[in-house]
Amino acid sequence: MIPRIGFGYDIHKLAAGEDLWLGGIKLEFHLGTVGHSDADVLIHAICDALLGAANLRDIGYHFPDTDKEWKGADSKELLKSVTAILKDKGYAIGNIDSTLVMERPKINPHIEAMQKVLAPLMNISEDEISIKATTSEKLSFVGNEEGVKAYAVALIYKK
Ligand SMILES: [Zn+2]
Repeated sequence: MIPRIGFGYDIHKLAAGEDLWLGGIKLEFHLGTVGHSDADVLIHAICDALLGAANLRDIGYHFPDTDKEWKGADSKELLKSVTAILKDKGYAIGNIDSTLVMERPKINPHIEAMQKVLAPLMNISEDEISIKATTSEKLSFVGNEEGVKAYAVALIYKK
């Protein structure tokens, strides 16, 4: 069994009047992420980590933001599709580790809920999806609450 590793990174702008979807759940906050889909930065980073591990390009390649089909799309559906793409290629997911970078709101109270939502979409257990959160110490665009970032790594293996 040869494991493969993948890395994913994503950024979304924050703006008033937008919903804040993170890790598959909607958080109450006065700012939300801007994007073609529901702009769930954590899910997008995870999708890219999974696709990268399988050397299958990135989510922009599979779900182009010029495509009306993905306008306002639920990112949970994208993650399900990515899991299916990997499964078709004979891959199973081992584990994911991820980090959200944003100033507010506090993410830690929501991590368990995110794990509960995301794990079944990838056919893994909650123990196999790690979500961490940190701030940007008020520095740069994340610190100014102009945007949010997420990083993820994924381990996959051929079944
Ligand atoms: Zn994105």
